[in-house]
Amino acid sequence: MGGTEQNYVNEAFDTNWIAPLGPNVNAFEQAIKVELGNSVHVAALSSGSAAIHLGLELLGVGKGDDVLCQSFTFSASANPIAYLGAHPVFVDSELDTWNMSPGLLRKAIESGIEEGKKPKAIIVVHLYGMPYKISEIRAIADEFQIPVLEDSAEALGSSYNQIPCGTFGDIGILSFNGNKIITTSGGGALVSKNKAYAERAVFLATQARDDAPHYQHSNIGYNYRMSNVLAGIGRGQMEVLKDRVNARRANHQYYKESLDQFEEIEFLKEPNGYFSNRWLSCILTPSFEIREKLRLALLDQNIESRPLWKPLHLQPIFSDTKHFVDGTSESLFDRGLCLPSGSNLSNEELERVVITIKNVLS
Ligand SMILES: *Cc1c(COP(=O)(O)O)cnc(C)c1O
Repeated sequence: MGGTEQNYVNEAFDTNWIAPLGPNVNAFEQAIKVELGNSVHVAALSSGSAAIHLGLELLGVGKGDDVLCQSFTFSASANPIAYLGAHPVFVDSELDTWNMSPGLLRKAIESGIEEGKKPKAIIVVHLYGMPYKISEIRAIADEFQIPVLEDSAEALGSSYNQIPCGTFGDIGILSFNGNKIITTSGGGALVSKNKAYAERAVFLATQARDDAPHYQHSNIGYNYRMSNVLAGIGRGQMEVLKDRVNARRANHQYYKESLDQFEEIEFLKEPNGYFSNRWLSCILTPSFEIREKLRLALLDQNIESRPLWKPLHLQPIFSDTKHFVDGTSESLFDRGLCLPSGSNLSNEELERVVITIKNVLS
């Protein structure tokens, strides 16, 4: 926590606003809006997953539809496709950003159209905080007139040509889960330049109550609104977002400078115009064997590290799902490792990680 969160939570208690609405929710949404350059409307929700679920519904995804989704991501990017009875079609990554390959996206769209089934939406992710190929993906989406749901769960504080991540999709989503760059313990947001989307998201997230004195419903609703207590945490967290980004980027810089001498270790560079919040510091090794040697050596020192996301087209639950892949994300999964990346790591702790890796490699 940054320090002021408790004050906002106390405010909620003192004023008895213990509900999924209230002054903290409004102020938190306003703070997100300002952070995203005032160009979007914001609906604070109970999770990033809820935001993806509502976002897909707002984009018209329904039973039997195909939705294109980046394969190299956390399962929460794709699960809401299944909630809606739609079918995910997974698309592999490219090596410049580790995110969706524009070439394979085009192939997946053209193949769908050929089979008489144009995909209904594209879910693309700024994985580990690195923006995806925004111009290329947007151009393809526009060419085929398919809306983009921008999964910015890991990328609050990242930007592309100084424009904040979260503002590039027809709908964007954020997550404030406990492991993200800032947190409300659990929470998320749907953001959009289209005011109607944000308003409709709030409507659906609060049980879709029609305007009537009694409880009247013409739609299936959800209980997805953010609590005013948790939004208090979010208000405080927004005040330290910049510090958190700086801390994460400093972790990455430290690892990079300390390990640059080893040709076995590669870091993902920021392409021109890209700014990553470096949510997690990740390394790429030449082989699965070296990756595992490092991971086990760290574990031996009681240091937790973790392989990169397992591509969704390789997950048991999605094993018979259509996919357009070229081996890129599978290779990243085999060879990559997320190093300790918390915003509160001490120099001593960072040094311990580096020394352990150096001992394996030298
Ligand atoms: C965390 C995460 C989500 C889901 O957010 P929750 O708030 O945990 O539901 C979705 N996509 C990605 C890429 C994530 O990392």
